[in-house]
Amino acid sequence: MELQSLRSKYIGKKGVVTQRLKELGSAPKEQRAALGKVVNEVRDFIESRLREKEALLSAQASVSIGSKHFVDLSLPGAYIKPGGRHPIKIILNEIIDIFVSMGFAVEEGPEVETDYYNFEALNIPLNHPARDMQDTFYVRPLSEKNIQGEHSKTDSGIVLRTHTSPVQIRVMENKKPPLMFIAPGKVYRCDSDMSHTPMFHQVEGLMVDEGITFANLKAVLEAFLHIVFGPTVPVRFRPSFFPFTEPSAEIDMGCYACAGSGCRVCKNSGWIEILGAGMVDPRVFKMTGIDPEVYTGFAFGMGIERIARLRYGIDDIRLFYEGDLRFLRQF
Ligand SMILES: [Zn+2]
Repeated sequence: MELQSLRSKYIGKKGVVTQRLKELGSAPKEQRAALGKVVNEVRDFIESRLREKEALLSAQASVSIGSKHFVDLSLPGAYIKPGGRHPIKIILNEIIDIFVSMGFAVEEGPEVETDYYNFEALNIPLNHPARDMQDTFYVRPLSEKNIQGEHSKTDSGIVLRTHTSPVQIRVMENKKPPLMFIAPGKVYRCDSDMSHTPMFHQVEGLMVDEGITFANLKAVLEAFLHIVFGPTVPVRFRPSFFPFTEPSAEIDMGCYACAGSGCRVCKNSGWIEILGAGMVDPRVFKMTGIDPEVYTGFAFGMGIERIARLRYGIDDIRLFYEGDLRFLRQF
Protein backbone atom coordinates (compact mmCIF):
# COMPACT_ATOMS: atom_id res chain seq x y z
CA MET A 1 0.00 0.00 0.00
CA GLU A 2 2.78 2.41 0.91
CA LEU A 3 4.52 1.56 -2.35
CA GLN A 4 1.32 2.37 -4.29
CA SER A 5 0.97 5.81 -2.71
CA LEU A 6 4.68 6.56 -3.22
CA ARG A 7 4.30 5.57 -6.86
CA SER A 8 1.29 7.86 -7.45
CA LYS A 9 2.86 10.67 -5.42
CA TYR A 10 5.96 10.84 -7.66
CA ILE A 11 5.38 9.04 -10.95
CA GLY A 12 1.57 8.68 -11.09
CA LYS A 13 -0.53 10.68 -13.59
CA LYS A 14 -0.56 13.66 -11.21
CA GLY A 15 2.77 12.81 -9.56
CA VAL A 16 5.49 15.38 -8.90
CA VAL A 17 7.85 13.99 -11.53
CA THR A 18 5.09 13.60 -14.12
CA GLN A 19 4.15 17.25 -13.56
CA ARG A 20 7.75 18.28 -14.26
CA LEU A 21 7.73 16.30 -17.51
CA LYS A 22 4.52 18.07 -18.56
CA GLU A 23 6.05 21.42 -17.71
CA LEU A 24 9.00 20.73 -20.04
CA GLY A 25 6.99 22.20 -22.90
CA SER A 26 7.09 25.66 -21.26
CA ALA A 27 10.82 25.54 -20.53
CA PRO A 28 13.26 27.53 -22.69
CA LYS A 29 14.05 25.62 -25.87
CA GLU A 30 17.81 25.36 -25.32
CA GLN A 31 17.36 23.87 -21.78
CA ARG A 32 14.54 21.49 -22.78
CA ALA A 33 16.69 18.52 -23.81
CA ALA A 34 18.95 18.64 -20.72
CA LEU A 35 16.01 19.09 -18.33
CA GLY A 36 14.11 16.25 -20.01
CA LYS A 37 17.08 13.95 -19.59
CA VAL A 38 17.40 14.73 -15.86
CA VAL A 39 13.69 14.35 -15.13
CA ASN A 40 13.53 11.07 -17.08
CA GLU A 41 16.55 9.78 -15.12
CA VAL A 42 14.83 10.71 -11.84
CA ARG A 43 11.67 8.96 -12.96
CA ASP A 44 13.53 5.80 -14.05
CA PHE A 45 15.44 5.79 -10.74
CA ILE A 46 12.24 6.00 -8.68
CA GLU A 47 10.55 3.42 -10.87
CA SER A 48 13.42 0.92 -10.50
CA ARG A 49 13.71 1.41 -6.70
CA LEU A 50 9.97 0.86 -6.34
CA ARG A 51 10.17 -2.39 -8.37
CA GLU A 52 13.11 -3.62 -6.30
CA LYS A 53 11.24 -2.94 -3.07
CA GLU A 54 8.13 -4.62 -4.47
CA ALA A 55 10.05 -7.78 -5.40
CA LEU A 56 11.72 -7.95 -1.98
CA LEU A 57 8.43 -7.63 -0.11
CA SER A 58 6.66 -10.28 -2.19
CA ALA A 59 9.60 -12.70 -1.66
CA GLN A 60 9.42 -12.16 2.12
CA ALA A 61 5.67 -12.74 2.07
CA SER A 62 5.96 -16.07 0.25
CA VAL A 63 8.64 -17.28 2.68
CA SER A 64 6.46 -16.54 5.71
CA ILE A 65 3.46 -18.32 4.15
CA GLY A 66 5.70 -21.25 3.26
CA SER A 67 7.06 -21.74 6.79
CA LYS A 68 3.51 -22.22 8.09
CA HIS A 69 2.44 -24.81 5.54
CA PHE A 70 5.69 -26.40 4.49
CA VAL A 71 5.74 -30.24 4.63
CA ASP A 72 9.08 -32.03 4.39
CA LEU A 73 8.20 -35.43 2.94
CA SER A 74 11.71 -36.74 3.56
CA LEU A 75 11.37 -36.54 7.38
CA PRO A 76 10.69 -39.83 9.24
CA GLY A 77 7.04 -40.18 10.35
CA ALA A 78 5.81 -39.86 13.95
CA TYR A 79 6.20 -43.38 15.44
CA ILE A 80 3.29 -44.81 17.39
CA LYS A 81 4.36 -47.86 19.37
CA PRO A 82 2.03 -50.75 18.55
CA GLY A 83 0.47 -52.80 21.35
CA GLY A 84 1.24 -56.49 21.65
CA ARG A 85 -0.29 -59.64 23.02
CA HIS A 86 0.33 -60.52 26.65
CA PRO A 87 2.81 -63.43 27.00
CA ILE A 88 0.17 -65.56 28.76
CA LYS A 89 -2.25 -64.97 25.88
CA ILE A 90 0.47 -65.94 23.37
CA ILE A 91 1.05 -69.29 25.12
CA LEU A 92 -2.67 -69.85 25.68
CA ASN A 93 -3.46 -69.30 21.98
CA GLU A 94 -0.62 -71.62 20.99
CA ILE A 95 -1.96 -74.39 23.27
CA ILE A 96 -5.51 -73.93 21.99
CA ASP A 97 -4.24 -74.13 18.38
CA ILE A 98 -2.41 -77.41 19.08
CA PHE A 99 -5.47 -79.12 20.57
CA VAL A 100 -7.81 -77.72 17.92
CA SER A 101 -5.47 -79.17 15.27
CA MET A 102 -5.90 -82.57 16.98
CA GLY A 103 -9.67 -82.24 16.68
CA PHE A 104 -10.60 -80.87 20.12
CA ALA A 105 -13.45 -78.34 20.36
CA VAL A 106 -13.18 -75.30 22.67
CA GLU A 107 -15.74 -74.88 25.48
CA GLU A 108 -16.14 -72.13 28.08
CA GLY A 109 -17.96 -71.71 31.37
CA PRO A 110 -18.62 -69.10 34.08
CA GLU A 111 -15.79 -67.84 36.31
CA VAL A 112 -18.23 -67.28 39.19
CA GLU A 113 -19.37 -70.81 39.84
CA THR A 114 -21.54 -72.65 42.33
CA ASP A 115 -19.96 -74.82 44.98
CA TYR A 116 -21.87 -77.69 43.41
CA TYR A 117 -20.18 -77.43 40.00
CA ASN A 118 -16.78 -76.44 41.38
CA PHE A 119 -16.57 -79.23 43.99
CA GLU A 120 -19.55 -81.49 44.58
CA ALA A 121 -20.07 -82.73 41.01
CA LEU A 122 -16.35 -83.32 40.69
CA ASN A 123 -16.39 -85.78 43.55
CA ILE A 124 -14.78 -83.33 45.98
CA PRO A 125 -16.63 -83.94 49.25
CA LEU A 126 -17.30 -81.37 51.97
CA ASN A 127 -14.33 -82.31 54.10
CA HIS A 128 -11.85 -82.23 51.22
CA PRO A 129 -8.88 -79.89 51.76
CA ALA A 130 -9.49 -78.23 48.35
CA ARG A 131 -12.60 -76.65 49.88
CA ASP A 132 -10.56 -74.91 52.54
CA MET A 133 -11.56 -71.26 52.95
CA GLN A 134 -7.83 -70.48 52.83
CA ASP A 135 -7.63 -71.64 49.21
CA THR A 136 -11.03 -70.73 47.80
CA PHE A 137 -12.57 -67.30 47.27
CA TYR A 138 -16.14 -67.78 48.54
CA VAL A 139 -18.61 -65.23 47.15
CA ARG A 140 -21.36 -66.85 49.26
CA PRO A 141 -20.38 -69.57 51.73
CA LEU A 142 -22.34 -72.79 52.10
CA SER A 143 -25.39 -72.47 54.38
CA GLU A 144 -25.86 -74.60 57.51
CA LYS A 145 -28.37 -76.66 55.51
CA ASN A 146 -25.83 -77.27 52.74
CA ILE A 147 -23.24 -78.37 55.27
CA GLN A 148 -25.78 -80.76 56.85
CA GLY A 149 -25.97 -82.48 53.48
CA GLU A 150 -28.86 -80.76 51.64
CA HIS A 151 -26.71 -79.65 48.78
CA SER A 152 -27.90 -79.38 45.21
CA LYS A 153 -27.34 -77.64 41.92
CA THR A 154 -29.81 -74.89 42.84
CA ASP A 155 -29.01 -74.60 46.57
CA SER A 156 -25.29 -74.21 46.94
CA GLY A 157 -22.52 -71.82 47.93
CA ILE A 158 -20.93 -69.55 45.31
CA VAL A 159 -17.19 -69.42 44.61
CA LEU A 160 -14.73 -68.01 42.12
CA ARG A 161 -13.91 -71.23 40.29
CA THR A 162 -10.68 -72.78 41.57
CA HIS A 163 -10.14 -74.81 38.38
CA THR A 164 -11.64 -75.10 34.89
CA SER A 165 -13.03 -78.57 35.70
CA PRO A 166 -16.63 -77.35 36.27
CA VAL A 167 -16.76 -76.73 32.50
CA GLN A 168 -16.39 -80.53 32.04
CA ILE A 169 -19.48 -81.09 34.18
CA ARG A 170 -21.54 -78.43 32.41
CA VAL A 171 -20.66 -79.82 28.97
CA MET A 172 -21.28 -83.46 29.98
CA GLU A 173 -24.71 -82.46 31.36
CA ASN A 174 -25.69 -80.84 28.08
CA LYS A 175 -24.01 -82.90 25.37
CA LYS A 176 -23.87 -86.61 24.73
CA PRO A 177 -20.64 -88.52 23.96
CA PRO A 178 -18.51 -88.72 21.93
CA LEU A 179 -16.99 -85.62 23.52
CA MET A 180 -13.61 -84.15 22.76
CA PHE A 181 -12.95 -80.61 23.96
CA ILE A 182 -10.68 -78.31 25.90
CA ALA A 183 -11.76 -75.62 28.36
CA PRO A 184 -9.29 -72.74 28.64
CA GLY A 185 -9.85 -69.91 31.12
CA LYS A 186 -9.11 -67.94 34.27
CA VAL A 187 -9.22 -69.57 37.70
CA TYR A 188 -8.82 -68.13 41.21
CA ARG A 189 -7.08 -69.27 44.37
CA CYS A 190 -6.22 -67.40 47.52
CA ASP A 191 -2.46 -67.60 47.09
CA SER A 192 0.38 -65.23 46.17
CA ASP A 193 4.13 -65.82 46.02
CA MET A 194 6.85 -66.34 43.40
CA SER A 195 5.01 -69.26 41.82
CA HIS A 196 1.37 -68.36 42.60
CA THR A 197 -0.95 -65.47 41.75
CA PRO A 198 -4.58 -65.17 42.98
CA MET A 199 -5.74 -65.35 39.36
CA PHE A 200 -4.14 -67.65 36.82
CA HIS A 201 -5.04 -69.63 33.69
CA GLN A 202 -5.71 -73.29 33.11
CA VAL A 203 -6.49 -75.43 30.13
CA GLU A 204 -8.58 -78.46 30.92
CA GLY A 205 -9.23 -81.22 28.41
CA LEU A 206 -11.71 -84.06 28.19
CA MET A 207 -12.25 -86.96 25.80
CA VAL A 208 -15.19 -89.30 26.32
CA ASP A 209 -16.34 -92.14 24.08
CA GLU A 210 -16.74 -95.91 24.04
CA GLY A 211 -13.43 -97.66 24.43
CA ILE A 212 -11.22 -94.70 25.45
CA THR A 213 -8.22 -95.99 27.44
CA PHE A 214 -5.15 -94.71 29.23
CA ALA A 215 -3.21 -95.34 26.00
CA ASN A 216 -5.26 -92.59 24.30
CA LEU A 217 -4.47 -90.24 27.18
CA LYS A 218 -0.77 -90.98 26.89
CA ALA A 219 -0.71 -90.52 23.12
CA VAL A 220 -2.50 -87.15 23.18
CA LEU A 221 -0.43 -85.65 26.01
CA GLU A 222 2.91 -86.91 24.71
CA ALA A 223 2.11 -85.49 21.28
CA PHE A 224 1.19 -82.17 22.91
CA LEU A 225 4.40 -81.92 24.96
CA HIS A 226 6.52 -82.83 21.96
CA ILE A 227 4.95 -80.02 19.93
CA VAL A 228 5.42 -77.44 22.71
CA PHE A 229 8.85 -78.41 24.05
CA GLY A 230 10.42 -80.28 21.12
CA PRO A 231 10.18 -83.83 19.74
CA THR A 232 13.04 -85.22 21.84
CA VAL A 233 11.88 -84.10 25.31
CA PRO A 234 11.48 -87.16 27.57
CA VAL A 235 8.03 -87.58 29.16
CA ARG A 236 7.11 -89.73 32.16
CA PHE A 237 3.86 -90.61 33.95
CA ARG A 238 3.74 -90.89 37.76
CA PRO A 239 0.79 -92.30 39.71
CA SER A 240 -1.06 -89.53 41.55
CA PHE A 241 -4.45 -88.70 43.03
CA PHE A 242 -7.24 -86.35 41.93
CA PRO A 243 -10.80 -86.66 43.27
CA PHE A 244 -12.36 -86.69 39.79
CA THR A 245 -10.09 -89.19 38.02
CA GLU A 246 -9.18 -92.81 38.71
CA PRO A 247 -6.46 -93.82 38.03
CA SER A 248 -4.70 -90.45 38.08
CA ALA A 249 -1.25 -89.46 36.90
CA GLU A 250 1.11 -86.57 37.05
CA ILE A 251 3.12 -86.02 33.92
CA ASP A 252 6.70 -84.82 34.01
CA MET A 253 9.02 -83.82 31.22
CA GLY A 254 12.80 -83.88 31.21
CA CYS A 255 14.37 -80.65 32.48
CA TYR A 256 15.19 -78.39 29.51
CA ALA A 257 17.86 -76.52 31.50
CA CYS A 258 20.11 -79.43 32.57
CA ALA A 259 18.91 -82.23 30.26
CA GLY A 260 18.27 -84.45 33.28
CA SER A 261 21.47 -84.05 35.29
CA GLY A 262 19.81 -81.89 37.96
CA CYS A 263 19.73 -78.11 38.45
CA ARG A 264 17.94 -75.26 40.18
CA VAL A 265 15.06 -75.21 37.65
CA CYS A 266 14.13 -78.87 38.29
CA LYS A 267 15.15 -78.81 41.98
CA ASN A 268 17.89 -81.35 41.15
CA SER A 269 15.42 -84.04 40.07
CA GLY A 270 16.04 -83.80 36.32
CA TRP A 271 12.25 -83.66 35.78
CA ILE A 272 9.66 -80.88 35.68
CA GLU A 273 6.04 -81.48 36.62
CA ILE A 274 3.87 -80.15 33.82
CA LEU A 275 0.38 -81.76 33.69
CA GLY A 276 -2.19 -83.59 35.77
CA ALA A 277 -4.43 -86.20 34.16
CA GLY A 278 -6.39 -89.41 34.62
CA MET A 279 -9.33 -91.56 33.59
CA VAL A 280 -12.66 -89.90 34.46
CA ASP A 281 -14.02 -91.34 37.74
CA PRO A 282 -17.26 -93.30 37.12
CA ARG A 283 -18.90 -91.28 39.93
CA VAL A 284 -18.37 -88.05 37.92
CA PHE A 285 -20.03 -89.71 34.89
CA LYS A 286 -23.01 -90.72 37.06
CA MET A 287 -23.40 -87.13 38.39
CA THR A 288 -23.79 -85.89 34.81
CA GLY A 289 -26.01 -88.69 33.54
CA ILE A 290 -23.44 -90.47 31.37
CA ASP A 291 -23.46 -94.27 31.70
CA PRO A 292 -20.04 -95.39 33.02
CA GLU A 293 -20.79 -98.95 31.89
CA VAL A 294 -20.81 -97.76 28.26
CA TYR A 295 -18.43 -94.82 28.20
CA THR A 296 -14.92 -94.15 29.43
CA GLY A 297 -12.83 -91.04 29.10
CA PHE A 298 -9.78 -89.16 30.17
CA ALA A 299 -9.28 -85.66 31.53
CA PHE A 300 -6.20 -83.51 31.87
CA GLY A 301 -5.33 -80.05 33.11
CA MET A 302 -2.38 -77.70 33.07
CA GLY A 303 -1.42 -74.25 34.33
CA ILE A 304 -0.61 -71.81 31.54
CA GLU A 305 1.58 -69.53 33.68
CA ARG A 306 3.74 -72.51 34.54
CA ILE A 307 4.26 -73.38 30.88
CA ALA A 308 4.93 -69.71 30.04
CA ARG A 309 7.52 -69.51 32.84
CA LEU A 310 9.28 -72.62 31.58
CA ARG A 311 9.15 -71.49 27.99
CA TYR A 312 10.46 -67.97 28.68
CA GLY A 313 12.70 -68.84 31.66
CA ILE A 314 10.92 -66.53 34.14
CA ASP A 315 11.46 -67.10 37.86
CA ASP A 316 8.73 -64.94 39.34
CA ILE A 317 5.17 -65.50 38.07
CA ARG A 318 4.08 -62.11 39.47
CA LEU A 319 6.02 -60.33 36.68
CA PHE A 320 3.23 -61.38 34.29
CA TYR A 321 0.67 -59.23 36.15
CA GLU A 322 2.58 -56.15 37.25
CA GLY A 323 1.86 -54.37 33.97
CA ASP A 324 5.48 -53.26 33.56
CA LEU A 325 5.89 -52.41 29.87
CA ARG A 326 9.67 -52.97 30.03
CA PHE A 327 8.86 -56.61 30.82
CA LEU A 328 5.84 -57.04 28.55
CA ARG A 329 7.47 -55.51 25.44
CA GLN A 330 9.98 -58.37 25.33
CA PHE A 331 7.42 -60.84 24.00
ZN1 LIG B 1 17.28 -79.29 35.61
